[in-house]
Amino acid sequence: MTIWHKEISQSVDSVVDNPDIAALYRLWHELAGATQGLPPREAFSLKGPMARLVPHMMVLECDGEDFLYSHYGSEIQRHSQFDMTGRRVSEFGGELADFFGTCYRRVLAQRQPLYTVHCSDRAKSVFTWERLILPLQGKDGRLCLKVYNRPLESRAQMLEVVLESSSDALLVLRAVPQASGPPEWLVVLANERFARLAGSTAGTQGTSGHLVSEVFPDWASLGFESDCYAVLNSGRQTREREMRRVVNGAERWYALRVGPAPDGCVVRLADVTALKLHELELEAKALQLQADNAELARWAKLDGLTGLANRRTLDAFLAMELQRTQRHPSPLTVVLCDIDFFKPYNDLHGHLQGDDCIRAVAKRLALAAHRPTDLAARFGGEEFVLVLPHTPLRGAMEVVENLRKALDQQPLPHGASHVSPRITLSFGVAELLTPEAVSPAQLLKLADDALYQAKHQGRDRVVALRWH
Ligand code: GH3
Ligand code: MG
Ligand code: MG
Repeated sequence: MTIWHKEISQSVDSVVDNPDIAALYRLWHELAGATQGLPPREAFSLKGPMARLVPHMMVLECDGEDFLYSHYGSEIQRHSQFDMTGRRVSEFGGELADFFGTCYRRVLAQRQPLYTVHCSDRAKSVFTWERLILPLQGKDGRLCLKVYNRPLESRAQMLEVVLESSSDALLVLRAVPQASGPPEWLVVLANERFARLAGSTAGTQGTSGHLVSEVFPDWASLGFESDCYAVLNSGRQTREREMRRVVNGAERWYALRVGPAPDGCVVRLADVTALKLHELELEAKALQLQADNAELARWAKLDGLTGLANRRTLDAFLAMELQRTQRHPSPLTVVLCDIDFFKPYNDLHGHLQGDDCIRAVAKRLALAAHRPTDLAARFGGEEFVLVLPHTPLRGAMEVVENLRKALDQQPLPHGASHVSPRITLSFGVAELLTPEAVSPAQLLKLADDALYQAKHQGRDRVVALRWH
C-alpha cells in the first residue's frame, strides 16, 4: 500500500479551508498558552458545543508505544467501512500501523498539533483525508490524542475529475437482459465529451441509470452497438477499430475501443482526425510518387519530342529481336528513314515548325508500323527506324508504301525541298532472311548504306538491301 502524505505544523489555521479545523487549532493554542502545557482533554469534550464534530473525531488513549481507539466517529466508519473502537493502532499491521504510530508518537513528543493530508486506499469511498491531531492531557496526567478527520476528496469526485479531464469520449454501459431479444444498455457513466458527441444538449446530467438510446439522441447513428454486444458475448475480449463521423459538417475520425466492464462494457473514443488527415496526405503523396515514377520510367524509354521509342529502347529491342530470330528463325526487316532537305526546311519555316514537322512525321510512322510486335523509334535528328520482326522485305515495303501514301494524302508542305512541294522521306531497308549472328549495329549500318543510296539516287525513294 502506498501512502501519500503531507504535514503542516505551523499556522495551520491560516492554510486550511475547513473552519472546524481552524477553530480547533486556535482553541488548542489559546488553552496551551493559558496552561503553559498541553490543554486538558475535557476542554475538547465531545459533549456540548463539540457534539457536532463527534462523527468526524477519533480519540486515542496512549498505551505505552501503542494507541487505543476509545472513540471512532461514525462518519469515519462509514467511509472506511470498519470500526476501530476498542482496538489499537498496531492492529492495522504493516506499513499503515507504522505510518500512523510514528505520526502520533511524534505529535506527543513535540507537544504540538499537526495537520496532515494523506492518501490511503483502505477507505473505499475516500481518496484523500485531512486530519488535525491534537495532543491533550487528562486530569490523571495521562496523555491522549483527539483527531479530527474529514474526507478532502472522495473517490467519486476524483473519478469525475479524471473523466472530465480526459481528451477522449468515455462511456460505461451495463447490459440489462430482456425477456426476449438482445439486452438493453443502461448508462453507468459518461463524460461531457461523449455526451456532446452523442448529441446530448443537457450534457451528462441525469444520464446515469437511463437507457442509453433515450438520453443520447445520436446513439443509434454512432454505430457501435454491435461492438458492445460482441464484447459482452465474447467475455473479456476488447474490440478496436477506426470510425468516421461527420460532426458539424466536418469529417472526423475516431479510434474506437470497446472493452469489458462488469455486466457491460467501457467505450472510449479518441479523436484521431489530425493523425488520420496526416496519414491520408501521406497516402496521397505516396500514390502521386508512384504515378510520377511510372511516368518517369515510361519517359525514360521514350523520345521527348515525338513520344516514339528512343535510341536506348531501339538498341535493346533490336538486340532482343535478333537473338529471337536465332532461336526461332523468322525474317526481320529494319527500315531507316530520313526527312529530305530538312535543313532547308528549318531554315525556311523556323526551328519550331521543324519540331512540329518531326512530330507529324513520327505520328504517321507510328500508324504505319502498327503491329504489336513492330517498333517505331526516333534514331536521332530527323531520322527514324522501324523494326519489323517476322516481316520479310515484301511486308516491309508494304509498310513503307503505306507511310508514303499517308504523306501523300495528308501532305506536310515543304517550301524548300528540291524534289517536292511537300515533305518526303528517303528509305533504307535492310532485310535479314536467315538466322545469322548479326549485331544491331551491323544491321543498322546496312540500312544506312541503303539510305545513302536512296539519297544519292535523288531522294523520296526506297532502296532495299539484304543481309548475306
Ligand atoms: P537530306 O535530304 O540529305 O537528309 O538533307 P537534310 O537537310 O535533311 O540533312 P542534314 O543532315 O544536312 O540536316 C538535318 C537537319 O535536321 C539539321 C538539323 O537542323 C535538323 N534537325 C535535327 N534534329 C532536329 C530537331 O529535333 N528539330 C528540328 N527542328 N530540326 C532538327
Ligand atoms: Mg539526316
Ligand atoms: Mg535529312
